[in-house]
Amino acid sequence: MATKKLSRVAYFCMEYALDSPFKIYAGGLGILAGDYLKGVKDHGYPMVGIGIRWKQGYGEQMVDAQSGKVYDAYKNGNHEFLEDTGVIVEIEIKGKPVKIKVWRVNSFGVDSLYLLDTDIEENDGESRWITGQLYGWFGEERVAQEMVLGIGGVRALQALRIKPEVYHFNEGHALFAGFELIHQRMAKGATFEAALAKTRDEVVFTTHTPIVQGNESHPIDRFLYMGANLGISKAQLKQLGGSPFNMTVGALRMSRIANAVADLHRVTANSMWKKVEGRCEIIGITNAIHRPTWVDQRMLDLSAACDGSKKAKEALWKAHMDNKKKLITFVEGRTGVKLDADKLLIGFSRRAAPYKRSNFIFTDRKFIEPLLKSGKLQIVFSGKAHPLDDNGKKIVENILEMTQKYPNSVVFLENYDMEIGRMLTRGSDVWLNNPRRPKEASGTSGMKAAMNGVLNLSILDGWWPEACNHGVNGWQFGDGFESEDEAVLDKHDFKAFKKVLADEVLPTYYERREAWMDMMVASIQSTRDAFGMQRMLDEYYSRMYRRTTR
Ligand SMILES: *Cc1c(COP(=O)(O)O)cnc(C)c1O
Repeated sequence: MATKKLSRVAYFCMEYALDSPFKIYAGGLGILAGDYLKGVKDHGYPMVGIGIRWKQGYGEQMVDAQSGKVYDAYKNGNHEFLEDTGVIVEIEIKGKPVKIKVWRVNSFGVDSLYLLDTDIEENDGESRWITGQLYGWFGEERVAQEMVLGIGGVRALQALRIKPEVYHFNEGHALFAGFELIHQRMAKGATFEAALAKTRDEVVFTTHTPIVQGNESHPIDRFLYMGANLGISKAQLKQLGGSPFNMTVGALRMSRIANAVADLHRVTANSMWKKVEGRCEIIGITNAIHRPTWVDQRMLDLSAACDGSKKAKEALWKAHMDNKKKLITFVEGRTGVKLDADKLLIGFSRRAAPYKRSNFIFTDRKFIEPLLKSGKLQIVFSGKAHPLDDNGKKIVENILEMTQKYPNSVVFLENYDMEIGRMLTRGSDVWLNNPRRPKEASGTSGMKAAMNGVLNLSILDGWWPEACNHGVNGWQFGDGFESEDEAVLDKHDFKAFKKVLADEVLPTYYERREAWMDMMVASIQSTRDAFGMQRMLDEYYSRMYRRTTR
């Protein structure tokens, strides 16, 4: 790669998951961004990341032992490891100057991430709180946070004398960076149209959300009274993002090119935003993971060395059992429940959102109950609900009821984080994924599992249609069926699930262990490069960042 000249990129994201206790992440978006910047360092790509130093981050989510209710707790992070760049930039929010301190992260395997922070003495109490809680707010406070990321981010790059050729908005949160670029051009005399055209030439965008309500929007007046518009008129704002202003629509009109995060998601996103005139093309670049963060090196080595002999497979199995026992010990430490290493263990950890159907496996009690009572099937759940999402909390509480009903075979780990994610995607036998297709944009936990030899049992959604070879490297159920009628879809999918579990997964595990080991080898070998960071970086650099006009 030293031979071709690569564009210098500034990557903007609200959250980064670098290490479990560094809680400036919430979920999949942050996992992707953190893994991406680790890959950037490993492989030497020219990129800097812009994010926010969240004082409290996403918070912890616990279960009250007495009431069985979910509650959130926020703690101030200890971020002493951050490097002070000495740079402070200023933006204006509601007519008031807000100072933003710029920190550099040079640890956890990244060296080019800059974090913005308003919690400094120069600011008043209200301004200091802007970078307090990740996704803690929806309205005005969210816009203030996004102004820090976008406007503050562009100004921080300039103060640091970093001159990107491409600005990559990972989700619509960074959109105000585009406003700032337009604003600076207009300040030098360009018309709005000319400034927009120039800016569009250097902005690219990744969309992650195939659910319409998941795409943030704001009344245009909010932008105006907060000063987020930076001199762009009401009519021009409307022309960009509609009214109310939809951040995804705005980003699609302010970018040269955009991408969805899997091939199926490309199809979904194109149909979702079909009616948006004047938007850029949306291509598909499937997500990937940073192997050293998530995958047990022994599994990679043993599968690579596997010559098909029984001995080689047994060595792989032994390493897997070691990971499974570590998970069982971890679960016992957290919950007091001791699972059985000789029985099939299904892992499931998801944000508690209805489309992910966390309760799916309990759909037909007559079917599942004997398996859980006999201990032939064990399930470890984890997941968090958004602090303001009562439905999500209900979902978690429903799972908690199941842990009471089947105390020896169903467990729930509270406060899902990177550590739990790593334990579960290494130590489970099967990784269950049952979203309502096509609502799961990509899903990276399945990739972590696959590369650890944990077999995916999944709806054909997100990344899985690209990887699945049914019965060879994992299993699919549902055959890609879709329906607007949720009851119809749920019924269809459960029937399919039941059949695959009963006819294929359980017999292979209990009666054909060597075939299971073959599947583990196939799972690792078929995914390790195809869903590794190097492939994803190559694709972004060759398909997104390459500039055609100059
Ligand atoms: C991997 C991971 C995710 C993303 O996984 P999905 O498959 O998108 O659900 C989210 N949170 C944590 C803690 C993870 O480790």
